[in-house]
Amino acid sequence: MIRLGLVGLGKIARDQHLPAIARTDGIELVAVASPRAVADVPAYRDIEGMLANETDLDAVVLCQPPQLRFDAAMAALRAGKHVFLEKPPGVTLSEVEALIQAAGTADRTLFAAWHSREGAGVAKARAWLADRSVKAARIEWKEDVRVWHPGQHWIWEPGGFGVFDPGINALSILTAVLPEPVRVMGAVLDTPANRAAPIAARLDMATASGQPVVAEFDFLQTGPQKWNIAVDTDAGELMLREGGNRLFIDGEEVETGGEREYPALYDRFVTLVREGRSDVDIAPLRIVADAFLCGRYRTVDPFHEDG
Ligand code: NAP
Repeated sequence: MIRLGLVGLGKIARDQHLPAIARTDGIELVAVASPRAVADVPAYRDIEGMLANETDLDAVVLCQPPQLRFDAAMAALRAGKHVFLEKPPGVTLSEVEALIQAAGTADRTLFAAWHSREGAGVAKARAWLADRSVKAARIEWKEDVRVWHPGQHWIWEPGGFGVFDPGINALSILTAVLPEPVRVMGAVLDTPANRAAPIAARLDMATASGQPVVAEFDFLQTGPQKWNIAVDTDAGELMLREGGNRLFIDGEEVETGGEREYPALYDRFVTLVREGRSDVDIAPLRIVADAFLCGRYRTVDPFHEDG
């Protein structure tokens, strides 16, 4: 049984991690650490308090804002714990590289979770695309930040990713299903005058063989929310909707089974720990970093949460 401590008892921890941990064989929650945590297990204000008092923990899952992830992951690895990282695995590529090395030195599992890759349609999409020729791909990831991220001030700070916080989920799917890597050729990043992170972005990319891939991210989408990826191929159009959980081929829905993103992540984490392996794919983060590297920056109207 893996004795787990959870850090960052916020929206995703409560909505997804706690129920998934409870349903997963081989892992049990024994402590939490979060500034205002109240829980059925011992609760600490921060990871330092948890590691000092819960010395027989085997692993930690880090669900706090990404800007706080690196120091916590390092502390856990140095204390000999396995580490499950929520997405994004870090604020920069260099800090994730440092974590990979630290996990190797400590001989502990490091798992960079990409929950959208566990969407119900993603594995079938990857299999369908594997032997087809991609002609073009288009991502539309457009949601209302006021609905989905109320009060999450960290998202607008440096390292909070702004609209790339959900957008990286689309990129995690894209990099999982396309048979060849994509490169970023240009980007436009719209940042509110009173914020440090983009509220909208457009990425112009291409597959390694030169086929166009466009991504449009928007945090001001009202009305129907869009989390869609369309891929044109020599054998028809593949469409993933609802964040990878519904799959359509030429408009016909394909049966995929129910959504079980977080249970699948915990099954994988248990397997990785048992097998003494790590799984850290930085491809989605690299695309975000590239967009920031080569993008054109535009300042747009200030953003106020109350409209
Ligand atoms: P959130 O609701 O703001 O939760 C973050 C939690 O971290 C809060 O409970 C916060 O406590 C806590 N925290 C702050 N400082 C801390 C510290 N020093 N030590 C321990 N905990 C600390 O954010 P979220 O939506 O859950 O997102 C967290 C991460 O999960 C992000 O990386 C996000 O990309 C990822 N994620 C989110 C979703 C989603 O739908 N929301 C989905 C998948 C992944 P206080 O509130 O007391 O400050």
